[in-house]
Amino acid sequence: MKLKKLKIGYESYDIDWWTATNATSNEASGEFFAKEKKIGVDARESGAQLVNTLLHEALHGVVYHQGLKLGDEQEELIVNSMANGLTSILVDNPGFVAWIKEQL
Ligand SMILES: [Zn+2]
Repeated sequence: MKLKKLKIGYESYDIDWWTATNATSNEASGEFFAKEKKIGVDARESGAQLVNTLLHEALHGVVYHQGLKLGDEQEELIVNSMANGLTSILVDNPGFVAWIKEQL
């Protein structure tokens, strides 16, 4: 299943699944577009790499919606660290996502 939307804060973001032809030229795996209300994700990714990319872009959305005043470099470092850490936790604990779903 390809996720179509992700709600972050008070906005809903369309997920734009990039193919080889429309992936960005800077070879990013994803990108958060606040004004366009879009999240671009490289559709050629799969598994933990894909989860990590979408978590990463969602966290950029959290930074944006929570009004965190971070410089670009600082934001990227924090978002990257948190996304990588969360992805690792999810990979290492297969029952965790199911447990979260039960609680929410
Ligand atoms: Zn980033």
